[in-house]
Amino acid sequence: MSAAKTKRNIEGIGMTSQRTRVRLVERLRDKGIRDERVLAAMAHVPRHMFVDEGIETRAYEDTALPIGHGQTISQPYIVALMTQSIMSAGDPKRVLEVGTGSGYQAAVLAQLIPHVYSVERLLPLFQRAQSVFRTLGYTNVITHHADGEWGWAKHEPYDAIMVTAAPQQVPESLIKQLKVGGVMIIPLGRENADQRLIKVTRTEQGIEEEEVERVRFVPFLSGRVGS
Ligand code: SAH
Repeated sequence: MSAAKTKRNIEGIGMTSQRTRVRLVERLRDKGIRDERVLAAMAHVPRHMFVDEGIETRAYEDTALPIGHGQTISQPYIVALMTQSIMSAGDPKRVLEVGTGSGYQAAVLAQLIPHVYSVERLLPLFQRAQSVFRTLGYTNVITHHADGEWGWAKHEPYDAIMVTAAPQQVPESLIKQLKVGGVMIIPLGRENADQRLIKVTRTEQGIEEEEVERVRFVPFLSGRVGS
């Protein structure tokens, strides 16, 4: 096969075209996403590049999709909602994402925030996301293969932290790596049960919590997998 044929179509055509992507964004607006910066970022990022070619025609449906290894790329509405929560905290310059997965959420953040740090515990997903960032030219996303329970001390403190897998409670190390005034958005609860998406604000005294939505995420697991 020629190089041109093996190369994926970044611009997209038909079900992966810019028009299809804009229709998804209109749906997000109808569902209540109001931050125009977030909507513009989602109109820009080619979500079809973050899923397997076999399901790329479904990339602009508002659903979570499998990305292998029992993991999923989050539903676009949830990506928009979480990004909007982060952006409500002033003008964040440095964000930590725990759970790179496909890399899609990190790419949306990279449209809006100068420095995006993202950690993933599963080696194959970490490697695949890194290669997509390279293909698409996202030079402001720095990734790390590690257990995100411990955050990423090297680049702290963060203006914002986003966790895209659900632990039972907020990991203490993540709170420590958040700036005073910074926000963390995190789903909490058991696997296959109703979970709560929580916005945590770090204050001088401690933390404040606010429930944003009922959600369902893959579980937050311990330990780095793969060498
Ligand atoms: N943000 C991702 C969502 C992927 S699903 C996207 O846009 O595609 C959540 C991801 O979190 C999975 O890839 C899973 O392996 C990862 N994960 C779960 N627990 C983790 C932990 N303790 N540290 C780092 N990554 C974790």
